[in-house]
Amino acid sequence: MSKYEGVVIGLEVHVQLTELKTKLFCGCSSDYRGKEANTLVCPICLGLPGSLPVTNEKAIEFATSLALALKCDINKQFYFFRKNYYYPDLPKGFQISQYNKAGGKAFADGGVVSIRINDDNKDIHLNRIHLEEDPARIVHEGSIATSPYALVDYNRSGTTLIEIVSEPDMRTPAEAREYLKQLISLVQYTGICDPALEGAFRVDANVSFKGNERAEIKNINSIREVEAALEYEIGLQKRRVGKGETLKQETKHWDGTKTIPLRSKEFEADYKYFPEQDLVPFEINDSYIDKARKKLPEMPDQRKVRYQEEFQLSEFDAGILVLDKQIADFFEKGVKLNESFGPEEYKLYCNWLMNDISGWLNENTKKINETSLRPKQLVDLINFIKDGKITGKIAKTFVPKMMDGNDIEEIVKETGKQAISDESVLEKTVLQVIKENPKIVEDCKKNMKAKKALIGRVMAKTKGQANPQKTEEIIDSKLKEMGII
Ligand code: ZN
Ligand code: MN
Repeated sequence: MSKYEGVVIGLEVHVQLTELKTKLFCGCSSDYRGKEANTLVCPICLGLPGSLPVTNEKAIEFATSLALALKCDINKQFYFFRKNYYYPDLPKGFQISQYNKAGGKAFADGGVVSIRINDDNKDIHLNRIHLEEDPARIVHEGSIATSPYALVDYNRSGTTLIEIVSEPDMRTPAEAREYLKQLISLVQYTGICDPALEGAFRVDANVSFKGNERAEIKNINSIREVEAALEYEIGLQKRRVGKGETLKQETKHWDGTKTIPLRSKEFEADYKYFPEQDLVPFEINDSYIDKARKKLPEMPDQRKVRYQEEFQLSEFDAGILVLDKQIADFFEKGVKLNESFGPEEYKLYCNWLMNDISGWLNENTKKINETSLRPKQLVDLINFIKDGKITGKIAKTFVPKMMDGNDIEEIVKETGKQAISDESVLEKTVLQVIKENPKIVEDCKKNMKAKKALIGRVMAKTKGQANPQKTEEIIDSKLKEMGII
């Protein structure tokens, strides 16, 4: 029986529309990150009595784009609701949101996100997406569970969120991870949110075990943490069920190592939803939706298919490459710079982007557009390797300098690192290595893999600068002369 037998996972993702200049119901700037606390506020987003909200039209346009990208059915008529609860981050005592009951509607219903798991495609269905305002930010000292006080910064109060509610279609933490990867990619492509910004997407993970009630783990900030929190909670629930317990609905917090019960869950009736009378009802028509559709860029799934055809990349490579729009745009600019590039070079370009370049970006927590790397540098790098001017091994050491914008030619000159293709130099080194390693030479008689060890020794002696093809040729000819092969 699988470790995850009986596990059911559903995710609620809050995406903040970071590309909106102003808040959802007032003209205050929504660019609150790094700003002095409580400076981007007005009577509306502070919830002062008598203030009246006005809806940001651009927010409706962004929500329309996302609904189209997620293949949802847009509700053409809707109005906002008040979700009542009392909490220091919510000065009005209610959050303006949407409600899909009591005559209300979500912004859009249904929708689907396709994931790839264990070499198979799986559709994760969406229940709905809706617009709502973000509460203020509560700042704790250390952990939420142990902080002696809480500070409130109202700069975030009233910024725009779209909540994306999935169906409970996921069965393992890995599926949840793949769903979030694809969802965040789609959000990034629509241009409504920069998912790399702190707090730009927050996940509430619902997980239950067999016939038991679910636990909801609130406000997790990264894909990796969602996966870890689910792993932990599943293990915990399994142990409790194993002891014969029946699990009740709980709201929990993930502290990075374990899930901690926060409070018993409030039920929907506690929110006393009712229509927001201070805002007019909305009506969206088909031409508005068509306009939004025309503005959408090529989406990752279409792009993936095109990359397989146009650049002969494998489905796997193309799928990873298109995930981040910035990386995919960079790839496309690069490979089109050199007309002599063919499938072999496309694959090399893709590999360099996905391995060495992405590795550097992850390590330095940077996006590719935040560096000085230009598509042309990677073209040059690949040409230098192909022409035997540098080895792949040397090329790897160039990455940090390339990220600062240095040309390959310059780096080669500056570091003095270029491939040794001079046969007389290589021959001398090969003869030395053969002399120093009689045992390996002997092994070549039985096993040609030993030859790789000889090439390795030559590489080490030349600090990785020996041209690998030429080295192998010379070793072959020497071993033949000696009657070894
Ligand atoms: Zn305001
Ligand atoms: Mn919400």
